[in-house]
Amino acid sequence: MLSEFSLIKQYFQRQRPGHAVLGIGDDCALLAPSPGTQLAISTDMLVEGRHFFAGADARMLGHKSLAVNLSDLAAMGATPRAFTLALSLPAADPAWLGHFAHGLFALADAHDCELIGGDTTKGPLNVCITVFGEVAPGHALRRDAAQAGDDIWISGTIGDARLALAGYLGEHPLDEANQQTSSLRMHMPSPRVELGRALSAAPVARAAIDISDGLAGDLGHILAASNVGATLNADALPAGPVLATMPTELRRRFCAAGGDDYELCFTAPAAHREAVLAAAQQAQTMVTRVGTIDAEPGLRYIDAAGKPLALALVGFDHFSGG
Ligand code: ADP
Ligand code: MG
Repeated sequence: MLSEFSLIKQYFQRQRPGHAVLGIGDDCALLAPSPGTQLAISTDMLVEGRHFFAGADARMLGHKSLAVNLSDLAAMGATPRAFTLALSLPAADPAWLGHFAHGLFALADAHDCELIGGDTTKGPLNVCITVFGEVAPGHALRRDAAQAGDDIWISGTIGDARLALAGYLGEHPLDEANQQTSSLRMHMPSPRVELGRALSAAPVARAAIDISDGLAGDLGHILAASNVGATLNADALPAGPVLATMPTELRRRFCAAGGDDYELCFTAPAAHREAVLAAAQQAQTMVTRVGTIDAEPGLRYIDAAGKPLALALVGFDHFSGG
């Protein structure tokens, strides 16, 4: 039977040298931020039965636990540096731990983000990660920075993760190939770290958020913080490859109020269109212009012809409904 300390040593304490002044093993880790940067810090917790199904694939869970956190750094335009991992486990299962660590470190290494500490306890399966990133003062892409007249952009594609959930729940049955493709979007999101950095560097964008609870709700946070409204073209929303083949009503609804997308929604002055496309190219990430920030509060939808659409959509909230 693995002890708590041998478990940490075997699966989470790595031999490779890191950038932290002091990593795993003492009461605290020590981190020296690069001179002239601010620390960007964020925490996200994944709870079994709430954020993922019981029996979820351990490698994909390791990936997603860090991905959702890196996505928050991306939405701020910050560069990942390090993370901590608080893990509650029902049992010390070597096979499960090996797969979990594999998924976790594959993504961590891809972003040069180092595990510097954490906590390990026995209990219901629960993964809580805190990430630390760096951003130049004044360059963070905050929710309160959108201005009337800004374009609204979205990275990548959205809605396929929500479609996968609809398939699992039998809400909208999918054939095997479509279930498999859309499920990959749900379990293996790609945090848009490079895009966030490119958008904050110049700076090109004004406000940004990552889409975790659905576009309508998450864009709503930008609108509220910035004291503005928006008009979205429901037919310009970049549906995922599977959702794009579905009927218009479903496509619009799952794009606008899906969830688990982990794409960036950001605003930028219309004069920065070329610069946004250059940043997207630099980050090798597709971006789509989907609407405009308005002075008038509220979120409105139009169709491809510019005709107003009555779509009453809200974001996901753990404490209402769901
Ligand atoms: P403390 O008693 O001070 O809480 P612990 O005994 O919990 O310390 O942890 C010992 C060391 O192992 C600490 O440096 C801690 O940050 C690290 N650690 C514990 N759990 C994890 C984990 N899941 N991943 C990475 N580091 C961990
Ligand atoms: Mg501890």
